[in-house]
Order: sequence, then structure tokens, then C-alpha cells
Amino acid sequence: MKRNSQFKKNLSRRDFVRTAAAGMGAAAVTGLAAEQVRAQGRQPHWDKQADVVVVGAGATGLPAAIEATEHGASVILIDANFDIGGHAIVSGGNVALGGGTTQQKRYGVQDSPDLLFRDLTDWSVVEPNGFPDYRFNDREIIRTFADNSAPTYEWLVAHGVKFVEKAPDRQGGSATGNSAPREHHSAPMSWTLVQTGSPTDPSVAATSSSGVGLMRPLEVAARKAGVQVLLKHRMLSLVRQEPTSGRVLGIKVENEGKTLYIRARKGVILGTGGSSSNVNFRRIFDTRLTEEYEGVAGEPYSFQDASGELAAISIGASLWGAYNQAGEFGQRLAKAGRIGCQYRYANLEWQPGSALFHLARARGLRVADYQNVILVNQAGLRFYDETQGQWTGNIYNSVQPYTQGSYLNAANLKYHPANFLDAALAGTGEAVNGGGPIWAIFDSDAVKRERWTVEPPWVDIAAGYFFSAETLAGLATAIVNKHQRKPVPADALQNTVARYNSFVDGGKDLDFDKPSPKYKIQTAPFYAAFASPVIHDTRAGLRINSKCQVVDFSGNVISGLYCGGESAGGFSQHGLARCIVQGRIAGRNAAAEALESSRT
Ligand SMILES: Cc1cc2nc3c(=O)[nH]c(=O)nc-3n(C[C@H](O)[C@H](O)[C@H](O)COP(=O)(O)OP(=O)(O)OC[C@H]3O[C@@H](n4cnc5c(N)ncnc54)[C@H](O)[C@@H]3O)c2cc1C
Repeated sequence: MKRNSQFKKNLSRRDFVRTAAAGMGAAAVTGLAAEQVRAQGRQPHWDKQADVVVVGAGATGLPAAIEATEHGASVILIDANFDIGGHAIVSGGNVALGGGTTQQKRYGVQDSPDLLFRDLTDWSVVEPNGFPDYRFNDREIIRTFADNSAPTYEWLVAHGVKFVEKAPDRQGGSATGNSAPREHHSAPMSWTLVQTGSPTDPSVAATSSSGVGLMRPLEVAARKAGVQVLLKHRMLSLVRQEPTSGRVLGIKVENEGKTLYIRARKGVILGTGGSSSNVNFRRIFDTRLTEEYEGVAGEPYSFQDASGELAAISIGASLWGAYNQAGEFGQRLAKAGRIGCQYRYANLEWQPGSALFHLARARGLRVADYQNVILVNQAGLRFYDETQGQWTGNIYNSVQPYTQGSYLNAANLKYHPANFLDAALAGTGEAVNGGGPIWAIFDSDAVKRERWTVEPPWVDIAAGYFFSAETLAGLATAIVNKHQRKPVPADALQNTVARYNSFVDGGKDLDFDKPSPKYKIQTAPFYAAFASPVIHDTRAGLRINSKCQVVDFSGNVISGLYCGGESAGGFSQHGLARCIVQGRIAGRNAAAEALESSRT
């Protein structure tokens, strides 16, 4: 329970809503700070200063701050949130580090930096739906990752992270490379989980995996090293000498309604965590991802609001590797793992003990067997075989037979373009993007089979994510949700269910080939639970080089600006490993910059 009372004390509902709202508003970030500064003919009054200023205390920012400090720099680390951790603290803590970690060696796993590099740039590796995981990776970025991957494992251990003592495996990640098992799992130990408000059961505290076991030890290490951590400090913009030239001098920050300027004598590191929560920004990559695909994994703890990307673009930075965000692979989008609530990511269940539960509002119903529900779009129509999965990760041996590096692998592909997400996002023939909400429809027999409790805190009735009625027509009318553009047509829903029931009678789904449809939907009451897919990863962002320096549209380094993690582009891999490695690289290089003497 170590941090729980402090955690709750630090977080009032008002605090959180203000922090979150400011996050979404950061879409308005501009380069005005620098312009104002110039118009005034002077640099801003710097309220605080350090050699290195790190923005975001997540998987990128905490390692960056520690590394910069340990390389002799004074460091200020800011985070918009009320606590450190970002998505990383609610993550599964599965860390895909390879290239020959001591843990790989202990268990006889053969790996090397060259093998890791070859894997993550292997043109021939594709997912079952035909999309290539690594084909569009930037080789300069991957080379640095490969060379720094195993040392980063040792570095984490040296900074207090306890990894589960077992052979590295392939569980919990995607795009980790095929040649060797590389997932190491950070144990939660006795740290309090944000999502439950309690520590993990002591019997599995050293053998299960959680991001809290990664981020809390790093927080301890950062504070011990002397990093100055400023929470509830949101970066609004970057201050550069000239709008699109010269060094980055520092940042403009909002802290509880006050504006501050923080000077960075050596460099600013952006570890702001990506852009998936920002609807306008994510639609640059994928026009389909309109407002209704809400409840991004990791929310409502922290938001991927694109504030780092927007601040950097406004002073001239380039984006990079956009295909990695648009491609249909990995965990970028996930099938709803729980239904009837806003936050539906399978591996993040918000429980009533959490200090954030008033924001999450419901735990959601986990669907054990998709034979128990049908999924319909906002027009009340089915669109796919509900038992199908989602985009997968290219986990080890997913293409069979497979020869590393061989173009002949393509002969072994099964190409299934019409999967859940394409179908779900296809829309309903309207002249606008976005398919509207997706509803799981089921009856009271299904509730019994799944052993669900169809009331709060399991489902979110008050906010319009769960409905029930005695008839299907009544259910169609009852569905009112801010993303439902027009009412579900009652006759369409009744016809859909009647047709599906006839498939159960006939033993064959004539529309989508659901294998032997099992159960009719026939016993009142009837239910509708929000079941739209969940956006997860950001895999494209700012252009960086091998030193994690941000690069502009002309290919020139923006002096004094670094970035890593989900806000950086060029690297298609889910999650923590690339963030931690890039954070370390950025921290080390920023600390090595010459002090900028012209700054006042
Ligand atoms: C539920 C869940 C499970 C996951 N499980 C795994 C897993 O098992 N393995 C794996 O490899 N990956 C996993 N991931 C992914 C992994 O957590 C992320 O890829 C990783 O945390 C991203 O690191 P980051 O530093 O880019 O961003 P984050 O860790 O999200 O940190 C970004 C930080 O920046 C702050 N911030 C943003 N904007 C500003 C601003 N303008 N000013 C100040 N601060 C700002 C945020 O508040 C946040 O604290 C999971 C993610 C989720 C959501």
C-alpha cells in the first residue's frame, strides 16, 4: 500500500479533470512563445533552469532524466499529470530487450545486437494479414536500439527494477523480432497498482508482470540521483532562438493556471508519449479514426495528446515513418477486451479501489466467448464473424514455414484483409468517416452463460455505454450515446437478430461464416454494450537521428532538442523497450552538449 494514501491525497477530482482537460487542449500548442519572446526583444524571464529539461515522466522521460543526471547534468523533469509514470505505469511491464541480456544468457537464449538489428529490419517479416512489421523501420534508429538494448536491461536492473526470474519469452509484446525470445517481465513487487488501488497479491508479486514494477523503481532512482521532478507542469510550447532556426532554449509551461518559462542550458528532451488521444492528429495517419474510437488504452490515467509533436512541429520539426502508424499491424488498434464501458482495453481493468475510478466509471464485461454476443454497427447491422481476433503481433514463428531473410516467405502468407478492424471501421455508407459506435447485442441467457453482473460498477449505464430493454425494438430506441449519430433503426436490429437466429437453427452463418453459430438471442431482457475497438499505440512521430536529436524538414538537426518513445517516429515496435532505450540515449547525448553560453 506504500503510495496509495499519498496518491489519493495528491489527486482530487478537480485536479485530475483540470489536468486532463488541459491535456486535450494542448492541441492548440503553437510557437508563439518564441515569437513573443522576440517581439519583446529579449529572452523570457526564466523562472527555473537546468542543464537538461525532460518533458514527460514516463517510459522515455524517467530513463532520460536519470541518464542525463548520471552524466553530470542538472535535470528538471516535468509531467502534466499528478503523478509520474504515463502509460508505462499502467502497462503490462513486458519489456522486449534483446541482443544478449544476461537473463537471455542465463537461460541459454542465443541473441546478439546484429541478430536484433536483422530482425527489426527484416523486409520479409509480415503478419498473417500481409502487413509488414519492420519493412519501414529506419535502419539508423534500429541500429542504435540494437546496440543499446542489452545494456539497457543491465541498466534497469542496476536502477532497481526486478525482472521475473525465468527464461525470456514472447509474451506481451509485438514486433520484437522473430529469432530469439526477448520479453523480460518487470515484477510489481509491493508497489500499489494505479488501476486497482492495491498492491498485487503477494503470492505473485515477484512472478507476475506490471509496469508499476518498472516505473516506481525508476522514480526512486531519479529522485535519488537528484532529478528535480515537477508534477502538474504541462509544456505548452518550445522556445527557440528564431521561429525555425537556432537552438532550442527552453520551454513554456503551465502549472495550475500559472505560466512559467524553464530554461534548458543544454537541451530539452520530449518524452510526451505519442498522439493517439488527439483525434485531429491521429487522423493525419488514419482518416477512419474519428471521435467515436475513444477510450484510448492508458486513459484516463494519461493522454497521448500530441503536445510534444505539435510543439516541435511548430518550430520546424519533421514527422517520420508515417506508414508505421497507418499500417494495419500490431496492437495499434485492438478489439474491445471488455464491453459496456468507455475504457475497453483488455489488459487494463479499472477497479473501484482505484483513485481514478470516478473517471473510468466501470470495469466492463470481459467476453469469454464471442458466441454469446453479436456485434452490430450503429445501423443495427452485423459486419463480421465476432469470434475473429484483431490485428496480431508478428510474434515468433507466426509465418510457417519461415526462413529468416528469404523472399520466399511471401509464398506462405495467408492474406485476410477483411478482418475485424477493417469491418468495424468501414462505416455505414454515410458520407462521413467513422463507423459510429459498435454495440454487442445479447440476451439474458448469454448473461447467465458468461456469469456477468449487468449493473454498476461492471457496466456504465449513466454515461451511455450500456442499455437494456424487454424487447429488441425497445433496446434499439433505448440506445443513446454521444457518438450514435442517429437512432439504431428498430426494424434493422430485429431483422439482424432474426437472421442470426436462423443461422443458429441452420448451423451456418451465411453472412460472415462465424463458425457454427451457437446461441439464439431470444430471452428478455436484451442488452446493448459499447464494444468499439481501442486505439493503443502510437508508432509514428517526430523525426529523430541515432542520437535521438530531433530533425527538421530540411534534414537538419534542431540543436538542443531530443525526443524518444511513442512521440518519435521511424520504429515500428510496440511499447516500452524502444522508449526506455531512446530515453537513455537522449539523456546521455543531451548531457554531453556544450553549455549554450549565449543564453542569458
Ligand atoms: C494498458 C497498457 C498496457 C501496456 N503494456 C505494455 C507491455 O506490457 N509492454 C510494452 O512494451 N508496452 C506496453 N504498453 C505500451 C507502453 O506503456 C508505452 O509504449 C510506453 O509507456 C510509452 O512511453 P512514452 O515515454 O512514449 O510515453 P508515456 O509512458 O505515456 O509517458 C508520457 C508522459 O508524458 C506526459 N506528458 C504528455 N504531454 C505532456 C506535456 N505537454 N507536458 C508535460 N508532460 C506531458 C504524460 O503525462 C506521461 O506521463 C502498454 C500500454 C498500455 C496503455
